[in-house]
Amino acid sequence: MIVGDPLSRVLYIDLTSRDFWIEEKTELFEKYLGGSGVASNLLLQECPRGVDPLGPENPIIITVGPLCGVFPLASKAVAMFKSPLTGNLGESHAGGRSAVAIRLAGYGAIVVKGASNIPVYLSIQGERVYFRDASAIWGMGSSYTVGRVIREREPGSGLRSIMRIGRAGERLVSYACVITETYRHFGRLGLGAVFGSKKLKAIMIAGDRRLKVKDPKSYREAYREIFESVTKSPSMKKYHELGTSMNVNILNESKSLPTRNLRETSFEGGEAISGENFAANYLGRRVACSHCPVSCIHLAALREPYTSDPYFYKTSMISYDYELIYALGSMLEVSDPRSLLRLLDEVEIQGLDAISTGVTLAWATEAQERGLVSENEVGLRLTWGKVENYLEAIRMIVKQPNDFYKALARGVEYASTIYGGKDFALAYGGNEMPGYHTGPACHLGFITGARHSHLDSAGYSIDQRTYTSKTTQSIEETVNQLFDEECWRQILSSLVICYFARGNYTPEFVAKALTVLGYNLDQQELRRLGAEILRVKNRFKFREGFEYENLRIPKRILEVETPHGRLDEDQLRRGIKLYYSKILE
Ligand code: SF4
Repeated sequence: MIVGDPLSRVLYIDLTSRDFWIEEKTELFEKYLGGSGVASNLLLQECPRGVDPLGPENPIIITVGPLCGVFPLASKAVAMFKSPLTGNLGESHAGGRSAVAIRLAGYGAIVVKGASNIPVYLSIQGERVYFRDASAIWGMGSSYTVGRVIREREPGSGLRSIMRIGRAGERLVSYACVITETYRHFGRLGLGAVFGSKKLKAIMIAGDRRLKVKDPKSYREAYREIFESVTKSPSMKKYHELGTSMNVNILNESKSLPTRNLRETSFEGGEAISGENFAANYLGRRVACSHCPVSCIHLAALREPYTSDPYFYKTSMISYDYELIYALGSMLEVSDPRSLLRLLDEVEIQGLDAISTGVTLAWATEAQERGLVSENEVGLRLTWGKVENYLEAIRMIVKQPNDFYKALARGVEYASTIYGGKDFALAYGGNEMPGYHTGPACHLGFITGARHSHLDSAGYSIDQRTYTSKTTQSIEETVNQLFDEECWRQILSSLVICYFARGNYTPEFVAKALTVLGYNLDQQELRRLGAEILRVKNRFKFREGFEYENLRIPKRILEVETPHGRLDEDQLRRGIKLYYSKILE
């Protein structure tokens, strides 16, 4: 490890007793590096078996890694907790300034335990932790304002991050997110509800430490190598120009863009909500996570008139990317970019995960169409493309005025258990489906991934590669590729490297960067460690009752053609078995 590196310091905070202390966990960080590796082990230790995800015993663990603050694009903080959405592994990664601020404050991990009896926010300033009364900002209408108020109240020095929840988190919506620096999120699996259950409105952290390296000469060389690789990479140029929303046209053209709750796979309004159209007509500015030269975060400028005052306009900066456009655009048949931006803004204001919100609303629209829920229960008519009603429904999910919205607030798996419509409830392991219907590998990746997310093993890229090269591969080959990818991603996320840089942070370069920092791990050992971390995560899932044999495959995905043709349930089931036989090896 870096000489005198504070990475192995874990800051424990108990909200019940309002106490905090620091523990040195050198062995844990030496063995598991940081990020996901350390967080999954801390979760096994700190989260008692069978606890209520919304109870005080559920810990919030946020970790960073050794490359963070030292090499570019190693700027993702990893959060782990027991998920209120799935009842097992909750893991979410966020960029912004969160990771580098934690690192420069002198910590490798923060563990928040217990629960407060009044709303609080934490102000962590280097060695000191302050418990601030958050009653005045609890219930505040917009998560943007919460960030602004805390920013004013906490001047501090150094790099600062404010991780906060909106009203969705306060009201325990199972897929509430935590917003960091306004445009980045711990989006998936409900960290916002865990914050809310602890009456924790926000964590502000600021740090101004300097990190020293052991061998400045080889560090400079390695830094130059990765910096040049990233800044000269054509794929990074694309991320900078269009961001992930470049995928809208690509997926639409290949008929793999889920549309109207995946009743179709191409969207006639796709061009209007494509990355190209947003960049040409709405892009206001780009921003970047700390220590990243790519700047892939795209903000659209939405100019709207005030109804009461002529020639007076409000301009909102709204972040957009592919998954958001899929979930609240094509899935709901919203093709007007301005209307789509209003939906994205509402989700941000309330502090919801956009994928889960969009997929849940798409299910609700179809359920209402089929008469599974009445207009009386819904309180309005959910109609494809009708944005005003979707805006109202988003607010109702947060308010939860009746049993129907209480069910929607627990996600599509739960809502379909109560009201029916399982066949078209698009969720895996309880987590709403990401925006790909590219073929068997993407769905197998969603089913088997530890978080049931597209980021676990990126099966869509296997499908895309095989259909563009017009080749086929066996289910065994697909399983091996997904497993290898998910194992390697454990190393990237333990080093908190942005997955967009996975082509630059090759195993060879990662081993070199670690050597520069004083670690002694070759590529083979790194791959072995990746598999071990993945198994630790699954151990937590199994301990909390997860059963891969009973995973539900939504019938809808089998009914709708992919570029590889119809999916075969038996093949997918065989793939699941093979995958878990590798996990259990
Ligand atoms: S590429 Fe984008 S998401 Fe990744 S670190 Fe840079 S700005 Fe953040």
